[in-house]
Amino acid sequence: MAALKYSRQREAIKSYLCGREDHPTADMIYTSIRGDFPNISLGTVYRNLSLLVELGEIRKITTDGADRFDARITPHSHFICRNCGCVMDVMVPLNDPVPQVNQSWGHGEVEECRMEFYGICEQCKQSAKCS
Ligand code: ZN
Ligand code: MN
Repeated sequence: MAALKYSRQREAIKSYLCGREDHPTADMIYTSIRGDFPNISLGTVYRNLSLLVELGEIRKITTDGADRFDARITPHSHFICRNCGCVMDVMVPLNDPVPQVNQSWGHGEVEECRMEFYGICEQCKQSAKCS
């Protein structure tokens, strides 16, 4: 890839993501970043997000709903609430299956394993009890 031109918008998107733990959607990023860049379009936000993912600077999390974005690129898993759609980090160290798979599988070299856990978050569990 050719050297990339510095982009204030891209930097702003990245630093917004770095300050969040909630894995925002492109829409959430767009809404927030529009305060500083009134002329930015949702398309530009999407393009910059794809580019950042391609550069390995952020991660895209595919869920049943909209894609979410994560500035934490160290290996970790996610818990996704089926009710409210919130996405939380799972930092429990899980045995990395990649070496085992690579020993026995033979379909190519696996580089990464991504895991998503689905369930009901604590907050949704609580509010279900109260109603
Ligand atoms: Zn929930
Ligand atoms: Mn995460």
